[in-house]
Amino acid sequence: MNRTRIAAAVLALLPAVPALAADKLPSVVVLATGGTIAGAAGSDVQAAYTSGQVGVDQLLAAVPQAKKLATLRGEQIANIGSQDMNDEVWLKLARRVNELAALADVDGIVITHGTDTIEETGYFLNLVVKSKKPVVLTAAMRPSTALSADGPLNFFNAVAVAANKDAAGRGVLVVVNDWIHGASSLTKTSTTAVQTFLSPLRGLVGTVAYGEAEFYRGPVGKNTVDSEFSLDGVTALPRVDIVMAHENMDGAIIDAAAAAGAKGIVIAGVGNGNMTKAGLDALAAQAKKGVVCVRSSRVATGRVGRNVEVDDDKLALVASDDLNPQKARVLLRLALLKPRSLAEVQKLFVEY
Ligand code: ASP
Repeated sequence: MNRTRIAAAVLALLPAVPALAADKLPSVVVLATGGTIAGAAGSDVQAAYTSGQVGVDQLLAAVPQAKKLATLRGEQIANIGSQDMNDEVWLKLARRVNELAALADVDGIVITHGTDTIEETGYFLNLVVKSKKPVVLTAAMRPSTALSADGPLNFFNAVAVAANKDAAGRGVLVVVNDWIHGASSLTKTSTTAVQTFLSPLRGLVGTVAYGEAEFYRGPVGKNTVDSEFSLDGVTALPRVDIVMAHENMDGAIIDAAAAAGAKGIVIAGVGNGNMTKAGLDALAAQAKKGVVCVRSSRVATGRVGRNVEVDDDKLALVASDDLNPQKARVLLRLALLKPRSLAEVQKLFVEY
């Protein structure tokens, strides 16, 4: 039995999710971007595979059970491994989400994505989507051809959440492996495990098991309709680079980032956003020249506080609060779309 049929057989055994009459079903649009959920391998038990091989129609056809939850239609935004995610796709995706969310006959949106950068895309959308309607990203760790592929049930659960009225107003969500994460809180923690996503500081928004969702709380941090960020008139995003701190760090990479045109630099610092004196000197020198420099941490969890071991006030630096480097970079890129004082940038890191 192939993987699709195994998934279909498993789902057929599940307790029925309360099905609505066809004319009352919520309408959910699926925007596909690629990733392992659309990946394929030469056999069902091999590690090597290629992301973004399966189109949106095939994805929908592989989970016919989802049609009991919502009226579905799909659009292909891209078909790439999310390691290749880029600004062009981001801007296209964000615009399409905003267009669709504004339509009266769209109740929710599901976005299929790779796991590598889903936390960045999710957080970006969390800041620029202007709607309270559910926008739910989902992904898979195993390609669609794998034994025990996780994509079909993740997709089913994502549709269930996008079709659920209680999901509205909770910011952009990410549904993977039965857990509902806020886009601002989740992070990928394992290169291969199916249970890769955690929301270490802010916790889960809810859980979803075979389409039955339970919500525990609202989103933490300003988002969507409360966000001040907008892509109106935006055709390009400012360059922000991430530099990782380490033993014996010098300032060469920081200077190289600025020389390459970075308007902002995020440090993935050691501990509480720390780095060597040489690194700090180089960072402070760039900050003095007007590059906006944010201290985040390479540690998996915990906040980076202002003026703890580094004198941010004196060196004109910003502390990332609880955003990890990759999310701090997203916020900083949007923050730099207009001139802001350092105090204003710091406030954004506390509020979002
Ligand atoms: N490299 C893949 C991607 O991010 C990994 C995945 O989807 O799990 O597209």
